[in-house]
Amino acid sequence: MSSKQSGMTTVRPVEELTLSTMLAESDDLSGAEKVFAFFRDALVEGRLRPGERLLSEREFALQLGVSRPVLREALRSLAMLGFLDIQHGRGAFVKQADVRVLSDFFTFSLAQQPDILDDVMQARIAIECQAIRLACQRATETDMKRIGSCLTRLMDTLHDPVEGGAADFAFHQAIVEAGRSEALTTLYGAIGDLLRRSHVHRREVTVTSPGILDYLVEAHREVFLSMVDRDPDAADRKLREHFAIGDEFRRRSLIAAFTKKPAT
Ligand SMILES: [Zn+2]
Repeated sequence: MSSKQSGMTTVRPVEELTLSTMLAESDDLSGAEKVFAFFRDALVEGRLRPGERLLSEREFALQLGVSRPVLREALRSLAMLGFLDIQHGRGAFVKQADVRVLSDFFTFSLAQQPDILDDVMQARIAIECQAIRLACQRATETDMKRIGSCLTRLMDTLHDPVEGGAADFAFHQAIVEAGRSEALTTLYGAIGDLLRRSHVHRREVTVTSPGILDYLVEAHREVFLSMVDRDPDAADRKLREHFAIGDEFRRRSLIAAFTKKPAT
């Protein structure tokens, strides 16, 4: 029975995914897109690995069917994105991708969305709640100490929205890292730039709210203590409460700001 008859998706063996089949499918791609598509697919399929040298410019251009100036421009763009290291006289080498590139990408693309920080908060909740569950099982004593010192830093910077926002971000980032999931840490790093801004922005809005400083200390302390107890359900719950109460403070502060009597 063919795979089509059985209703399964046809999966081509890897060895059939040659450069020529890839290019046959990409007739409508521009030269630069061909270079990008080739590079991306070769990385995903493991045909190119960090540290490997690409073919010479002449051979590569010939194989991909693009002009050398187009190839050179595309390779320069890949180098700018941190995926290639172009060494003069030696050629172009595949580089280990850097999460900062992802972070820039997310910041650029998401920054065009008007309510971006609220939306990023949803990704943050998903990542952090899973990470803290993992951290309750996987965190080492060193991780716990690090999170503890982030908490101290957070308490020492309560009155400064910029320093305090940065300390708040560092506390949450340390929790995600203690989850020891490369994928979660990478995704969190990718939205890190936006989260840092979100933390500072929230602090600026709420810094004068009554009770905010006590709340910040208590909420983070409770999250930390539930981690020390290695209780994933409690840690997840405390983290969600922290997000929800933080939102409520922000909502009240915004309402207060808009209902102030105008100066006469
Ligand atoms: Zn926090």
